[in-house]
Amino acid sequence: MLEKSPALVVVHGSDISLNNYSGWKNVYKYAYQFAKLHKLPIHVVRSNFREIFRYRFIDYEYESKLGRSWWGAVQHGTALPALCAPLAWKHGYKEVILASEVGGNPIYPGAQPIFVNKLAWSGTNVFLADAEISRQEKIARIANYIRNNKLKITIRSCLKHVAGYNCSRCLKCLRTIIGFILEDIDPNTVGFLSTIIHCQREDENLRQDVFTYMVQIFSTGLNFSNILIKTKSICTTRKVF
Ligand SMILES: [Zn+2]
Repeated sequence: MLEKSPALVVVHGSDISLNNYSGWKNVYKYAYQFAKLHKLPIHVVRSNFREIFRYRFIDYEYESKLGRSWWGAVQHGTALPALCAPLAWKHGYKEVILASEVGGNPIYPGAQPIFVNKLAWSGTNVFLADAEISRQEKIARIANYIRNNKLKITIRSCLKHVAGYNCSRCLKCLRTIIGFILEDIDPNTVGFLSTIIHCQREDENLRQDVFTYMVQIFSTGLNFSNILIKTKSICTTRKVF
C-alpha cells in the first residue's frame, strides 16, 4: 500500500473521545511519526459521529440480529470512509482505502467488500484493503516490513486505553501480542507490554476469548509448542514471571 504514497487520515472522535486531548495527543504522535518516516501527508478529522448515538439502545435492539455491536457490524465500515469525503474532494483523492478487519471470512458481521467497495461519491471510490487475508497474515507482513527496514515503530491496536497507548490486556492487544510473538517480533519493541499471564489471571471471559483466538491460529497449522516457547522466552526476558 505504501507504494501508492497514500495520505494518512486519523479520526479524533472514533475511539478517543473529543474532550480527551491528552489521549489524542499520543494517538496523533504515533501516526505523525509514521507519516514523517515515510514522507506521507497526514490529515486529522474531528467528529462527534459516535457521540450522537445512544449505543446502549441501538445494541439492545440490533446486536442479537447483527451478531455484533452496531459500531462493529455497521457503523465503522461506512462512517469512517464517509468522514474522508470533504478531504477527498478538497485534495482530489480518487480512492479512500479502509483497512480490513477479520480477513478471509465473507460472512463476518463487519466491514465487508460487498458494501464498502460500493461506497463512492463524486470522483472518489472507497475500497477495503486486504480483505482476503487473515489477521495473522497481516501481522506477518508488518513484521517483515519492520525487520527488512530495521524500523522502530509503535503499533496501536487498542481501543480501550484512554491515554492513547496499548493496554496490553484487552482482546485486541492480546491477539496482536500473540501474533507478533509468532512472527518472531518481541511485542515489547512495537508498543506492547507482554504481560499475557497477568491478564489471564484477571478475567475468565477474556481468557476464553484469547484461547479461542489461539485455537484459530493453531488450526491454520502453526505449532502449539512454538508459541509457548516463544512466549515464555520473551516474558522471561522481560521478567514477567
Ligand atoms: Zn488493549
